[in-house]
Amino acid sequence: MKKILVTGGCGFIGSHTSLALLEKGYELLIVDSLVNSFPVVIEKIISLLNKSYPNIEKQIHLKKCDLCDLNLLKKVFQEFNSDKPISAVMHFAGLKAVSDSLSFPLSYWESNVLGTINLLKVMDEFDCRNLVFSSSATIYGFHEKKKDLKEDDFKKPFNTYGDTKYTIEKILKSLVQANRKDWRFAILRYFNPVGAHTSGIIGESPRNFANNIMPIINSVALRQREHLYIFGNDWNTLDGTPIRDYIHIDDLVEGHIKALEHLFKNKSKEISLNLGTGRGSSVLQLIKVFEEVNHINIPYKFSPRRDGDIAYYVADNSLAKKVLNWEPKKDLHEMCKDSWNWVSKNPYGYSKQ
Ligand code: UDP
Repeated sequence: MKKILVTGGCGFIGSHTSLALLEKGYELLIVDSLVNSFPVVIEKIISLLNKSYPNIEKQIHLKKCDLCDLNLLKKVFQEFNSDKPISAVMHFAGLKAVSDSLSFPLSYWESNVLGTINLLKVMDEFDCRNLVFSSSATIYGFHEKKKDLKEDDFKKPFNTYGDTKYTIEKILKSLVQANRKDWRFAILRYFNPVGAHTSGIIGESPRNFANNIMPIINSVALRQREHLYIFGNDWNTLDGTPIRDYIHIDDLVEGHIKALEHLFKNKSKEISLNLGTGRGSSVLQLIKVFEEVNHINIPYKFSPRRDGDIAYYVADNSLAKKVLNWEPKKDLHEMCKDSWNWVSKNPYGYSKQ
């Protein structure tokens, strides 16, 4: 049984990936600062797997640790590494609110970039040099033409969050270029992850509300807010609202598992891949599907454009499909259904459990 260290494993993408890693038989150490997540998610994961794997709780460990605390991180790594070495790190930890990154840039540089440098230093010290990294499509920034984004397209992040992700990518590439040690990196650029585990037992539940479209649609569906404000209806798109590439969390997770296996097969030293479905949907299309699938009316109003928004952001995912032999399977209907299934069963997320 290989050992994997998962940073940010209590968060949305980290927790769903941890569940899949456990099912695959990996032993996990989750390192999470818990600043934006809840430890109870580990109990939920165990409860989901207990029936099929009665000893599952022995396979998952949680340590509260901020990656900025280098000494604690070293200690945690040493402890988990002791009887058998850690084979790889899946690195999800980081701050991710675009608007906060513009208001509090130092926190973003510190948590995301310094945290990653600490992680890489400790990995190097313990001879663990396989890393799957959560990057973001935000790094591409603004492209004049409406075309699907390819991995080698021009990159110009326009917010501090995107800048930190791009900087980390450059740090990882510099380690491969230095060619002194056998580092292997899979850099996964997410488009718009939504949905939840089909059980409705785990899902997205940050401590700080995420101002992304799906959590907002859900809060309107819960009648916690009256309207959804659509940021602009004058974009150059089919219905005037912006197009995004929404991807179900299950497909995203499968991409991670395949990327990890790709690293273990020593296939490449460094690979950057877009994880999106390659299909774009407008805000109005998303609302319509949500309403149809869940039989809930979502009242909306148009408001002015949001700063930094872009009309069209869709992945060319052909490289990920080819390299990983990966195929996203779930459509917008399943994304909306699973998302509401989780939220309707857990209207306060993990916060009141
Ligand atoms: N959006 C919106 N109203 C909201 C939140 C988002 O109209 O309250 C739109 C936003 O303009 C964008 C899309 O929904 O076109 C996805 O936004 P989100 O913040 O989820 O992701 P990102 O903009 O980072 O792709």
